[in-house]
Amino acid sequence: MYDLIIKNAKLIDESVTDIAIEQGKLIAIANTITGQSRRVLDLQTKHYVSSGWIDSHTHCFAHSPIYHDEPDLIGVKAGVTVVVDAGSVGAIDADEFYQLAQQANTHVYSFLNISKIGLLRQNELADIQNIDVPLFDTTLAKYPDFIIGIKVRMSRSVVGDNGIEPLVKAKEIQKKSGLPLMIHVGNNPPDLDEIADLLTKGDIITHCFNGKPNQIFDKENNLRESIKRAIERGVILDIGHGGESFSFAVAERAKCLGVYPNTISSDIYSKNRLQGPVFSLANVMTKFICLGYSRKRIIDSVTHNAAQILHLKNKGVLSVGYDADLTIFDVKQQAISLLDSEGEIRQSDEQFIPLASIVADAAKHSIRIEITEEGSKNGLRISN
Ligand SMILES: [Zn+2]
Repeated sequence: MYDLIIKNAKLIDESVTDIAIEQGKLIAIANTITGQSRRVLDLQTKHYVSSGWIDSHTHCFAHSPIYHDEPDLIGVKAGVTVVVDAGSVGAIDADEFYQLAQQANTHVYSFLNISKIGLLRQNELADIQNIDVPLFDTTLAKYPDFIIGIKVRMSRSVVGDNGIEPLVKAKEIQKKSGLPLMIHVGNNPPDLDEIADLLTKGDIITHCFNGKPNQIFDKENNLRESIKRAIERGVILDIGHGGESFSFAVAERAKCLGVYPNTISSDIYSKNRLQGPVFSLANVMTKFICLGYSRKRIIDSVTHNAAQILHLKNKGVLSVGYDADLTIFDVKQQAISLLDSEGEIRQSDEQFIPLASIVADAAKHSIRIEITEEGSKNGLRISN
């Protein structure tokens, strides 16, 4: 007997399907599934389903003094089944973060900050002694299924007088581990060219469409040669919207030149969730509708692309055998004003509205279902 059948679900290409789940896995996807099921969710060809949304850049260590949030508030309650904390935590707080993360209904992973103090302060790399390689290696070895990447923040306020040195050290550590490396870019020094030239295939530049002077476009508004070369080498572009790091003008220029982000992520934490300009991953995704991206490109960037880039096996694909992480949502025809990090506003006629999250629970061979506030309003109900 199936654990759950989702009936009449719309896919992003507008086709309609049934999906059956058993033991936390997608077990059948077909026009009509008739077998017995303990629970049924009928989407009546009205609502969409995709593989669960993955937010590749968030801050969800609740005990962080500056960038903190609750995983489920930015996760399952917002249609996001996987949240990746991008360096809030360094080796010193990894145990505590791991314990907290296990209590969430959302899948939580960590990109461990190369600085052992994490985001205890804004300038976690101003003292190079905070890069403690033996401690970092021990912590990685302790949590191989939780720590899935390495974070290094390379902007003036973070590195102080240390210039490019923290990135050189991060690359050395990364080469040993093989994990993805996420690099925060912002104000210089170090200069973006100097950073980009050190990056190799699979490294992730987050805040890729920031509007600061050290952005991906030069003074003539051409894409920097260093970024062109980096993209050709397979370096990844991640949005990491945040309070200061997403500019509509830069995103529009990039689209004109055919430069697309590989992943759309929020850089969300309590303050920019409650006061904006981030609000939610769905709100950030909606900004890309307004930029003229196809719905499929947007959904791919929070599912398939993210899973591949973050090396999350069994996630990000709506196919039999993959984890039963799913997001149910509407693309609602409703006007919305959208705000970037520079105070610029754009209007969209439609928006992504998450209605429910389904999360595979590997330990229990089961699933957790969270209907969002909007889902309840829409009368989304599980029947037995
Ligand atoms: Zn961040």
